[in-house]
Amino acid sequence: MAEFDDYDREDRDTEDTDAVDVETDAQDSADKKEEKEHKSEYEDVCFICRRPESKTGKMFRLPNNISVCNDCMHKTMDTVSQFDYQGMLSNPAFTQEFNNLSEKGFPNIRFVNIADLQGEGGIPNKQKLKKKKPKSGEEPVLDIRNIPAPHKIKASLDEYVVGQEHAKKVISVAVYNHYKRVATGTMDEIEIEKSNMLMVGPTGCGKTYLVKTLARLLDVPLAIADATSLTEAGYIGDDIESVVSKLLAAADNDVEKAERGIIFIDEIDKIAKKKNTTSRDVSGESVQQGMLKLLEGAEVEVPVGANSKNAMVPLATINTRNILFICGGAFPDLEDIIKERLTKQSSMGFNAELKDRYDKEKNLLTKVTVEDIKKFGMIPEFIGRLPIIYALEGLTKEMMVKILKEPKNAILKQYQKLLELDEVKLEFAEDALEAIAEKAMEKETGARALRSIIEEFMLDIMYEIPKDDNIGKVTITRAYIEGTGGPVIDIRGNQVSESEIPRIPQVGRAAFQE
Ligand code: ADP
Repeated sequence: MAEFDDYDREDRDTEDTDAVDVETDAQDSADKKEEKEHKSEYEDVCFICRRPESKTGKMFRLPNNISVCNDCMHKTMDTVSQFDYQGMLSNPAFTQEFNNLSEKGFPNIRFVNIADLQGEGGIPNKQKLKKKKPKSGEEPVLDIRNIPAPHKIKASLDEYVVGQEHAKKVISVAVYNHYKRVATGTMDEIEIEKSNMLMVGPTGCGKTYLVKTLARLLDVPLAIADATSLTEAGYIGDDIESVVSKLLAAADNDVEKAERGIIFIDEIDKIAKKKNTTSRDVSGESVQQGMLKLLEGAEVEVPVGANSKNAMVPLATINTRNILFICGGAFPDLEDIIKERLTKQSSMGFNAELKDRYDKEKNLLTKVTVEDIKKFGMIPEFIGRLPIIYALEGLTKEMMVKILKEPKNAILKQYQKLLELDEVKLEFAEDALEAIAEKAMEKETGARALRSIIEEFMLDIMYEIPKDDNIGKVTITRAYIEGTGGPVIDIRGNQVSESEIPRIPQVGRAAFQE
């Protein structure tokens, strides 16, 4: 009985649900009807030209509720059938054609020419390798294919770099030999060592400047890297090979040009072997070891247009065999090592000399030998690959004065040119230049101090002079540099007067520059 009861209940239940279903069906159709009526208040518009169906006539219904009018559909079909897809996007003629069409009939469609994007604004050109193109335009001062004799290279350097006679001579000969071998392709035949160089010299004496000038005169790409930022591959810092990557960038991604460039690695003394260390020396000795194969000549894969290798960046293979490596550093404390060696040598036998004989000697660095550098902490394999070692002198007062006025792009000439544009003549009394040099010597940052000193007092001049059209000539005097007087001003028509231009104390500015 219970079973039947159960059955009955079940049966009734299903009947009930059926009744509900019928009810919902009725409601659904009512909804649809309402929707249809509601929908009829709207009409379709063409997906392309946005005109309503009432204007365009019957439209084509495409999937996803897209409607396209007859006109647009035909124009699209015509256009598509006329052009092949393969060259479509890169073909400017096509996009132009299509854009013309769109002006007539496709108001909302514009085709973008992919080629346009690849200039400055769009996809960067950086990641592309430059193709070789026929040489045009300016001829370099010194042509490396027809490399001039060393004395001519030195003469060109003389126009820019003051003093450093020995360094200029050494670098001229080394560069001459190097590029002669590169040009004649005899780098392999005669197993001569590469002319890589190591430059030792106090800060601001012109190491970087010498190399920069040389690269400019030869018109070869130059990469200047800082050894302090280099670490062994895999550690935080720049990979050693990143220096080659920099050179490639300096050569506008032209592999062939980069392969005869110059890499200058500054602050090389900072990767000296650390003394008394038990931990792994990832930024010192390991970097020296990592550089060995680069210095000698190796094929390295470098990322194009980026600093690190990853899947997104194309790689270029560069052979460093013809790249000239110049390393430079101030090597502090090297003087002590040299002094110790010299004293030891001379304190034996009859020639024994006083211990402090070398204490006062200037430019001890010029007596540098491989042994001294080794003692400083450079590993023998590394020094062996830099066969040319020479030192630059510290700058003297006389050299500083010359640096101010003699080089082709001397800083005084630059200011004179600037004031010339205002038709004002700028002159410096000889003792004023000496005063500037003396001030620069005090700062002990070499020739770098010159610019900051000059900029400090030229600010007032550059500010005041253009105010008065009558000023014809300004002469800077020692008194003005020392802050005890003003410059001598010549008014047009030859009246001479001591100027009123004040020396504004520039404590903040000077402190900032130091
Ligand atoms: P560092 O030896 O520390 O690399 P730099 O080569 O950077 O010094 O010199 C700094 C600036 O001083 C250069 O830009 C250059 O204008 C000037 N300078 C240094 N030495 C000389 C020099 N012998 N002749 C001409 N200018 C020099």
